[in-house]
Amino acid sequence: MDEHTEFENQRVTRRGSLLKLGGLLAALGGGGGVVASQSEGAGPAGVASGAVSCVLTPELTEGPYYVAGEKVRRNITEGRPGAALRLRLAVVNASTCKPIKGAAVDVWHCDALGAYSGVQGSSGTFMRGIQRTDAKGVALFDTVYPGWYQGRTVHIHVKVHVGGRVVHTGQLFFPDATTDAVYRRSPYSRRGARDMRNANDSIFVNGGSRSMLKVSKSGSGYVASIVMGVTRS
Ligand code: FE
Repeated sequence: MDEHTEFENQRVTRRGSLLKLGGLLAALGGGGGVVASQSEGAGPAGVASGAVSCVLTPELTEGPYYVAGEKVRRNITEGRPGAALRLRLAVVNASTCKPIKGAAVDVWHCDALGAYSGVQGSSGTFMRGIQRTDAKGVALFDTVYPGWYQGRTVHIHVKVHVGGRVVHTGQLFFPDATTDAVYRRSPYSRRGARDMRNANDSIFVNGGSRSMLKVSKSGSGYVASIVMGVTRS
């Protein structure tokens, strides 16, 4: 999957939201690289202390494997094997911290053996799907823990659409220690060791630490959550 790697490496984009972020930061007097709420403990210090969760989630390249018009469905596995993963993706307005209801959250990732569907001679639509956020701003997916492909750390691609517009394009990451534990199990263990971890990944270094999923065990599987702060206008 060299092509994918190369393509993603050269296309670290900072479109849209980051331009807006620049404007907002200017209005706030700059600094920090985050947009926080106006509540007590706001600003970069509030983010660092965990008091503020509605930071603007960094824009990261969508890569070459996006397919438009995916199916609206919660379970995206199409029966493919892997460690069960429930994704709990919340969308909030980065400037007000309020949940955004009815946003379309679009996810895609490779299967447990590192293959994407619908590209490079691979058929099908597995590991791709769209869900709408509920009143709490939450979209749920049932999938499997992603595998890996050459040159990239483990990730899930995400796009958020509000009112027909893309308001966020990003990638979500996993704690390396959790991935190590998952990859000791079948079917992941059928492959050799992965060749990239978060710290050295060319996309992760552009803000990936703010796109880390919070992952916990749930039975024989995992639940992974994140709050994504987006700008609407
Ligand atoms: Fe990818």
